[in-house]
Amino acid sequence: MKRFTVVIALLIAVPFLCCAYSKVESTGKKALILMSLEEEQQLGTESYNEILKESKLSTNATYNKRLDEIAKRLIEAVGKDAPEGTQWEYHVIEDEQVNAFAVPGGKIAVYSGLMAIASDDELAYVVGHELGHVTARHGAQRMSQQAVISAVGSVAQGAMKSETSATLFSVAYGLGSEYGVILPYSRQNEYEADNLGSLYAARAGYNPDGGLSMLQKLKTLSGSSSMPEWLSTHPLDDNRIAKLKELYQRNTDEYKKAVSTKKK
Ligand SMILES: [Zn+2]
Repeated sequence: MKRFTVVIALLIAVPFLCCAYSKVESTGKKALILMSLEEEQQLGTESYNEILKESKLSTNATYNKRLDEIAKRLIEAVGKDAPEGTQWEYHVIEDEQVNAFAVPGGKIAVYSGLMAIASDDELAYVVGHELGHVTARHGAQRMSQQAVISAVGSVAQGAMKSETSATLFSVAYGLGSEYGVILPYSRQNEYEADNLGSLYAARAGYNPDGGLSMLQKLKTLSGSSSMPEWLSTHPLDDNRIAKLKELYQRNTDEYKKAVSTKKK
């Protein structure tokens, strides 16, 4: 009976899903997106404003100036990859966390704890990576996947007779309510954001060594007592570093082009 109900739920979900794949401009791939760009951007803007209201903005003039310059150059490098209607905004939050995030709509925040340990090239990689999540619409993809899991989950949960199983089910699927910034990105999303972000950083004239040294720095920190917050939402494994190395030649070529154009 239980299995039967899950199958019914999937039968309802599958035809619905086949019509819900949209092409993402920056990656050229189709992705499951169950919301309009406007809805996605509105949700992003609301949660960003909420976070800013609860945070202390940095008054460190050096940090603000550094982020301003890096973000401006990266946004220029993003160019046409920016989803329609994107209104970029960025702030430094005063907090010792080693963290940064972006939400749909192009809203970015970098914590002073990250500013303190990163060089400009390293920071450009992190901010570029965040811009990559925005241009690839990963926020909308995560929310869409969670909506599907919740829909299937609620039907299946009703079919479970034992209270213990139902509780376990809630725990497994309970993350669905934590939309947006809290859920970690999937590995695939991380590779994609690294691919796009390292290209944006190189095109903006930042040395691709910065990406590799940043990941190495974060990896070292994660082995100590001060786990960087950034890694809790942007999972890091050795594959990620290996994949970024594979992009090194492409990024170096783009970086050299950007630097020689600037000199002319
Ligand atoms: Zn990420």
